[in-house]
Amino acid sequence: MNSNARRSFAFRQRPSAPCAQCDQPLPSPEWSEDLSETRVRHLWWCHGCGYTFETLVVFSDEFRDRAA
Ligand SMILES: [Zn+2]
Repeated sequence: MNSNARRSFAFRQRPSAPCAQCDQPLPSPEWSEDLSETRVRHLWWCHGCGYTFETLVVFSDEFRDRAA
């Protein structure tokens, strides 16, 4: 199944998240850091209210294999 891999790739290329404080959509993270092959940490900064937060994205190859 290519659909899962494709979705992960797309998400990895274009991450986005709403501000946790004022709910303003943030189009891209201020900073992204690859922790490993399957873990990416994004640092977000809302220019509207100045709030900063982090998200951790985990790509599970195990789950994909099990689902297929
Ligand atoms: Zn905000």
